[in-house]
Formats: sequence, structure tokens, C-alpha cells
Amino acid sequence: MTGSARIIAQALLTLCIALFATQAPTFPSSPQKPADEEAALRGFTAIHPIDVHVHVFKSDPALQKMLERLNLKVLNILVVADTNPNRKQLQPQIDNALQLVRSGGGHFALCTTFDPYKFGDASFSADAVKQIDRDFAQGALAVKIWKNVGMEIKDSSGKYIMADDPKFGPIYQDIAAHGKTLMTHQAEPDVAWGPADAADPSWSYYQENPQWYVANRPGFPSKQRILDARDRVLAQNPKLRMVGVHLGSMERDLDNIGRHLDKYPNFAIDTAARMEYLMLMPPEKVSAFLIKYQDRVLYGTDLELLPEANLPDALTEWQSTYARDWRFLATGEALTVEGKQVRGLNLPQPVLQKIFHNNAIRWIPGL
Ligand SMILES: [Zn+2]
Repeated sequence: MTGSARIIAQALLTLCIALFATQAPTFPSSPQKPADEEAALRGFTAIHPIDVHVHVFKSDPALQKMLERLNLKVLNILVVADTNPNRKQLQPQIDNALQLVRSGGGHFALCTTFDPYKFGDASFSADAVKQIDRDFAQGALAVKIWKNVGMEIKDSSGKYIMADDPKFGPIYQDIAAHGKTLMTHQAEPDVAWGPADAADPSWSYYQENPQWYVANRPGFPSKQRILDARDRVLAQNPKLRMVGVHLGSMERDLDNIGRHLDKYPNFAIDTAARMEYLMLMPPEKVSAFLIKYQDRVLYGTDLELLPEANLPDALTEWQSTYARDWRFLATGEALTVEGKQVRGLNLPQPVLQKIFHNNAIRWIPGL
């Protein structure tokens, strides 16, 4: 073969491989995925998983295909954040999310929110209730209250507003009256108040989002004060179902989570963006906790699909997160987390069934 013929032959071979790779029949968005990830996704798919905590800003055929392939239903959570251009305005987010629900073939549900920056308006509570009721009528299943309540927004006298402010009362009563669920993200991981800690799974977040790193800010509310306000909402609204997202912001203290679950029968937690804390704790302790509270833990991830996201890279991350979480909870395999070797919990099948599916349906009816 001449030199130029060899180059042409190699080019043809490369093209054939590329064509074959993009047409591979299973999980095509990441053809180089290792076999253990394939196996994990098969287990995950078989349980008909529900991810109760995602943020999807656009519809995309590749995302839709992935949800179908994984038998996966997701709860799309809205948040109003004044520093994020995608999250500044509420109504466009609602319109977009409802469109996803309508076009998503049953794979999307909506957790709406209200605009807490309007807290100072005289008609704040009534307006929020009206808007939430409109969203319920169009299919929203839950309402989110975010960390800007407690950590950012101040009242007219300059005090940080807390989740148990009487102005939020009518909103909670309305959610309970409709049989819907309140998702609370209150406070942040301990490290947001503490010294710099590169070993903490959330530390990189504060390097990228320094506005939420609140250590050494004179007069800033303590984490305890913010969570106490959340707990008063639980106590004052016993008929309101509340899911405390991100392990209820008690990510380093399973005993404390357990005390909350014991004390408040209307409280459950999700695992969103805090799975690594569980992975880095003693496995016997985490297993015992998840088995004892198997009816109170909902699987969630906090995965995002931003408007500017590059598909299929983003979906490769989604799939590897699902595979990793499944391997940790459902198998006894070794996995590497933050440079450390950890082993999977190998939880009993009925417990997995609850965490990945049944609890979502029970705590967020309509899913
Ligand atoms: Zn989130």
C-alpha cells in the first residue's frame, strides 16, 4: 500500500468506528462507559427510579431519550435567585417548566416556587397564594422555599427574613389545604459557616459562589437559627408535608436527622447533592440509618440542564451520577469518592424500592 492509500484507509476506518459508536444501541451518549456503569444503570432502570430534585431549563430530544431509556421520572424544581440570569424571573420559568411537563411523556413533574423578593409588597402573601394555586391547577405537585429566605433577603427593618415569618403562613396553609408538598432548602452545609475546608464535598461550591460563604460575617444568622425557624414551620403546620432537601441541611449528623424524623411525622429528606457526605461516613452507620428511616428518605440529585448546556456531555454526567449513586446504595462494590475508597451499602431490595420510587410517590402525591 502506498503512503497516501494507507492514510485514506485509516481515515475510512476511523469514520466507520465513529459511525458505529454513535449508533451503538445501549446508552449511546457515552460509548466509552465502563461495564460496571452499564450494569449499575440496568439496576437503576429496573426499579423505575424517580429523581425528586433536578433543575432543567430546556427541553432536548437527547434528554427525553435518556429519561425514557432509564424509566426515569424527575421533579423539576424552580427557584428565584436575583444573582442568576436564568432564575431572576419566575413566570418564564413556570411557563417553560409546564411546557416540559406537557411535552415530556410523563417523565417530568413540576415543583413551583414563589418570588420571595416581593416579601415587602403589602399583597405578598395573597399574590403568592394566587400564583401557586394557578400552578397547582396546571399540574404543579410541590412548592420550593429556597435558602435566600434565611440567608439573603431582609425585611424593611434590615433583619434577615426567616421561614417562620407570619407572612409565609398563608402559603404553607394553602399548600397543605391542596394536599401538596413543601420542599425546603434552608441554610447550607456546615462548611458555609466554618473555616475553609478543601476536604468538604461542598467546598468547591463556595469557591465558585462566594456570596453563600458566610463565615466571619458579623451579624449573619447562625445555621441553627435558620433551621430552628424551619422546625417551627413543621411544628406549626402538622398537616403540611415537608421534604427537607439536601439531607435537611443536617448533612454531617445522621443522629440529628433521626431526631427530626422522630419528632416531626410530617418531615422527610432528600439526598440531593449530599450523597458524597453519606459515602464518606462509616458505612454501617449509614446503612442502619437508611434502614431505620426507609420510609422517610427520597432519592434526589440536584442535576441541572442549563440553557447553555452542551449535550450530550451534560447527560454523560447525569448517567454517571445515577450509576455512582446506584452502586453506592445497591451494591457492595468499591468506589472512589473524593480520592477515598469506599464500599457500597448493598441495601435490601425493599429499601431501595422505597428510596428510589415509593417514597417519592407517597411524599409528593401525583408523581
Ligand atoms: Zn437544587
